[in-house]
Amino acid sequence: MAEANITVLGAGVVGLTTALLLSKNPKYNVTIVAKHMPGDYDIEYASPWAGANYFPVAKPGSLGEQYERNTWPELKRLASHLPEAGVHFQDSTVYNRTKDAGSATQVWFSELLKPDAWFKEVMPNFRVLPQNELPEGIDSATGFTSVCINVSIYLPWLASQCLKNGVVLKRGIVNHVADAADHHHTGKRADVVVNCTGLNSRFLNGVNDGKVFPARGQIVVVRNEPGIMTSISGTDDGSEEATYIMQRAAGGGTILGGCYQVNNWDSQPDPNLATRIMKRCIELAPTLTNGKGIEALSIIRHGVGLRPVREGGQRIEKERLGDVAVVHNYGHGGYGYQTSYGTAEKAVRLVESALEPAARL
Ligand code: FAD
Repeated sequence: MAEANITVLGAGVVGLTTALLLSKNPKYNVTIVAKHMPGDYDIEYASPWAGANYFPVAKPGSLGEQYERNTWPELKRLASHLPEAGVHFQDSTVYNRTKDAGSATQVWFSELLKPDAWFKEVMPNFRVLPQNELPEGIDSATGFTSVCINVSIYLPWLASQCLKNGVVLKRGIVNHVADAADHHHTGKRADVVVNCTGLNSRFLNGVNDGKVFPARGQIVVVRNEPGIMTSISGTDDGSEEATYIMQRAAGGGTILGGCYQVNNWDSQPDPNLATRIMKRCIELAPTLTNGKGIEALSIIRHGVGLRPVREGGQRIEKERLGDVAVVHNYGHGGYGYQTSYGTAEKAVRLVESALEPAARL
């Protein structure tokens, strides 16, 4: 196989993971070009705002199920053997209230709440909680062991793994997806561009995907420790609000969430929503404050991120735009970490096929 020049456009979890897998092939010269890099906090950059945990939400038999299934082994390996990646195991419980049926959160979590979920064979220690373990107001619950990722360690770790394999990281803003080919570090035009621009695939020329839209998520990061990773099927504060708690690995604090506000682009935290989130979280996990009120929460920061949702799921496809092959890998919604390796593996296979001699004609 001849050498190939590849530009990965985007340095979120999707771009970094795709570049890392590509860089394992010594024939590939990989450049990452991005407006935002690990260390930045910006409303146009979803990855730093994620919890991030692995709570499978894909429907059984869907492509999403394959992506989640294929991502778990690597996250499990990182949590088991590579503490420097900032991923740790967490005991998890997901509570269900029958009255939430049909609400946005219940629909989003529907697989997560099932006693016979497809991932019961995948996640360690899956169990349905017996009635006598259910708190008041809860109708059913499942438990399993999952992971929580400290993204402020994990994103730089991904970048440094790329650097170790010879990937070059560059800042740049691209107006047309095919123009990313001109940003290759060799000075030559790239043979393939991998588009990992998340929500901006809606506006990026040459892509302009109208199926991509934001689902706004607001979080509060606190120093308190809950002792459990947990979530629930809905809230009494409206269909677009959610409650979840996850403690990041290695001193990353605890994420209190949240909401899922479709087509809401507001970058600023709403203080009223923040109060509701904190109240709901201490109700769900009183261990957070040892039974005290929200004044006992020690706040590190408030945050807002936009999940890059795509109607119909992620777009992982290839096409040819003039002299350059473009492989798309975007639209990861609220599950970009938990599908990151599954989707990146597929994108790498598409890059390989785009570089076959017949495809280059
Ligand atoms: P992004 O991180 O947005 O990265 C896009 C990249 O493209 C950036 O580097 C940007 O600068 C670059 N870019 C875009 N346009 C251009 C351009 N024209 N020129 C140059 N560069 C460009 N997922 C989970 O799996 N588990 C969770 O627990 C979880 N929790 C979440 C909680 C919240 C509050 C939010 C907001 C998200 C959560 N997610 C979670 C979802 C996850 O964060 C996203 O799916 C993921 O970060 C998307 O990554 P991405 O790389 O596609 O996009």
